[in-house]
Amino acid sequence: MILSYDRRKALKNIGIGATALAMPGLMSLKPRTTHFISLSFDDGFKKSFLKAAEIYEKHQLKGCFNVLATGHLPSFIEPDEYMLKPLLGDFEVWNELKQRGHEVMPHGFKHANLSKMPFVEAQDLIMRCLDYFKQNLRDFDPKEAIFNFPFNASTPELTAWLPTQVKAFRDMGQGFSNGFNPLPHQGQVKLNCAMGGPDNIDERVQQLIDAFLEGPKGWFIFNTHGLGHEGWGPISADFLDQLLGDLKSRPNVEVLPVGVALNTI
Ligand SMILES: [Zn+2]
Repeated sequence: MILSYDRRKALKNIGIGATALAMPGLMSLKPRTTHFISLSFDDGFKKSFLKAAEIYEKHQLKGCFNVLATGHLPSFIEPDEYMLKPLLGDFEVWNELKQRGHEVMPHGFKHANLSKMPFVEAQDLIMRCLDYFKQNLRDFDPKEAIFNFPFNASTPELTAWLPTQVKAFRDMGQGFSNGFNPLPHQGQVKLNCAMGGPDNIDERVQQLIDAFLEGPKGWFIFNTHGLGHEGWGPISADFLDQLLGDLKSRPNVEVLPVGVALNTI
């Protein structure tokens, strides 16, 4: 059972906040769960993320949103033609989403490709990102955080060091991933995701999920971005609604944010 928004509000009233709901022992899974699915929304598109949150709430699920430290600041430089400044939200929105029980995690300081710069420079950007989150996102704890690499691009040196700072990280491994991971387990710090774009990804997501559900138990993580026409590789709102409804009804499937899934260990 996943707690409803009303139930979360009730727990909040007796002093147990949304963060605590992610703690082991406070969330029970469907008894026959064999497959975890996480759709991980990146970059911080305000309109899309608020709409996606509504869709998740309709199905009594929690969304998984990964945002930049500085996407809302005047100094932010758009890294491509998809991540347009007027479309990006700020920490007022991210705190609201977190308050509503959704997961908000770091996706970098300024969406730089950390695999294409010296190690110490990449380290510095990651630390500045985590510091900004500590100062601006309510109840943010780096030791409970999932760091979602911009462009899903990492280096072996960075991924060896990063678990000393955060709980886990998400990237695409060595350039290609179908997003299939083992079920959450102790010591799991590396999470592979699949992605698709630049056009609509509904069909790709459905195909990968179908293939995943036909296979052995595990955890599928897909990195999506905006809804409708926002962002690189957007997903349709109607498709997301229908997909979550379908997955929610399956007795062996749990749809969870990445950090919450790791906390089910
Ligand atoms: Zn991104």
